Amino acid sequence: MNVQQNYDTIKTELDTSIKKAGISTQPNVIAVTKYVTIDRANEAYDAGLRHFGENRVEGFLAKQNALPDDAVFHFIGTLQTRKVKEVINQVEYFHALDRLKLAKEIQKRAEHKVKCFIQVNVSEEESKQGITINEINDFIEAIKEYDNIEVVGLMTMAPLTGDVDYIRQLFNTLKEKQSEIQALNLSYAPCTELSMGMSNDYQLAAEAGASFVRIGTKLVGKEE
Ligand SMILES: *Cc1c(COP(=O)(O)O)cnc(C)c1O
Repeated sequence: MNVQQNYDTIKTELDTSIKKAGISTQPNVIAVTKYVTIDRANEAYDAGLRHFGENRVEGFLAKQNALPDDAVFHFIGTLQTRKVKEVINQVEYFHALDRLKLAKEIQKRAEHKVKCFIQVNVSEEESKQGITINEINDFIEAIKEYDNIEVVGLMTMAPLTGDVDYIRQLFNTLKEKQSEIQALNLSYAPCTELSMGMSNDYQLAAEAGASFVRIGTKLVGKEE
């Protein structure tokens, strides 16, 4: 496992994907370090990565304490409402806003504006977190008064399937929705960002216009 080599390969692949799609800038790569040690996270930092993603409060705080100050920390997993207060003021980007109860708790506990992605279940699988595409507008309207929340974009996780056309279709659907909301020019929901693509599908996500891809296994590996 050599993080530098993995990162170089991923950047080359992302470059191919965006060129294919006629897109001029590469998505930001979030190193998802939830499966690995602090040492491995530091290795990713030394390889040039500055965005880090964790999905548990303990792991999040441990990695954040250990890494240099210019590392940007993303909370990417489901967050129980009762745990919001433990972590929300350390979070730069929160990728899993999926219910009003959670929005309310963030509003109450945050001491600054938190950049949030609304998590969307585009495929509408029973097992997946997130609101549906059709619920997004009402959800955004409902959190309008919550001035500690800025809706910076939409986030999704594609299902684990080899059906490339289907994944492409899901990513394109979310891209369209993100552009539609961005065009509304809402001050509290600029919605300029799109968080999608993981180890199995980051190239497809980049082609569809992702601005953040979240890569764990293929970048920093998976320990345990
Ligand atoms: C774990 C995780 C990832 C990274 O998964 P890999 O398949 O290891 O790249 C990305 N996004 C979320 C929300 C995750 O929980």
